[in-house]
Amino acid sequence: MDLIDTHCHFDVDEFDADRGVILERCRREGIRQIVVPAIHAAGWNKLLQLCRQEVGLYPALGLHPIYIELHQSADLLALEEKLQTEKPVAVGEIGLDYYLTELDREQQQKIFEIQLQLARDADLPVLLHVRKAHDQVLAALRRIRVKGGIAHAFNGSLQQGHQYLDLGFKLGFGGTLTYERSSKIRQLAHSLPMDAIVLETDAPDMVVAQHRGERNSPEYLVHVLTALADIRQMDIDTLAGQTTANAHAVLGIKHVG
Ligand SMILES: [Zn+2]
Repeated sequence: MDLIDTHCHFDVDEFDADRGVILERCRREGIRQIVVPAIHAAGWNKLLQLCRQEVGLYPALGLHPIYIELHQSADLLALEEKLQTEKPVAVGEIGLDYYLTELDREQQQKIFEIQLQLARDADLPVLLHVRKAHDQVLAALRRIRVKGGIAHAFNGSLQQGHQYLDLGFKLGFGGTLTYERSSKIRQLAHSLPMDAIVLETDAPDMVVAQHRGERNSPEYLVHVLTALADIRQMDIDTLAGQTTANAHAVLGIKHVG
């Protein structure tokens, strides 16, 4: 099996103590590639260094909407430069979060749109974080045409899902699929076309049902795959091949090794 976790915060401190061991277990499970999206500028160097050290780790650089208070205009200039010098695989994670009402929406919009422009100019896909703001994000994507990307932890409607697909995006599904009660997300994963879906863990957050209460980990991607195979009544290996191909297509990367 050859799997890719398209969204894992593998650079954060929660993994400092046992990152190498986890990577070993991932490789044994067939998880050979991990996309590591950034959160804020102060974390970029650690993230980039980690991805340089290990085969199969891919950095994305960007400013996450939840940390809007931390972002400075100098960070956007630094991002523009790093997209040239560091050649990340995507700009991310970026987007709009309307679920947390304390986050300044005007400021989020501004930072999001500038990063879309940087992604467009650098010809890079984007990794989107969107909560309760799909229509606003879709409107921005229609104004500023990036080359596609992934709507991570997709939680919109089927219709909104198709609008992302029309704009060249894939939709990320993670640990939520493993919970029987997540009927809306499971229904989406059932109804969307097979070439729309990519897998992710969002570790250390959003843990799978099998490890409830624990830290999430990229090695649990296999549980997401198994849940999706069950929902779609598909063979595991076929599904692994298809979702990996989807991720490779949208991120412009190939298999390792
Ligand atoms: Zn994330």
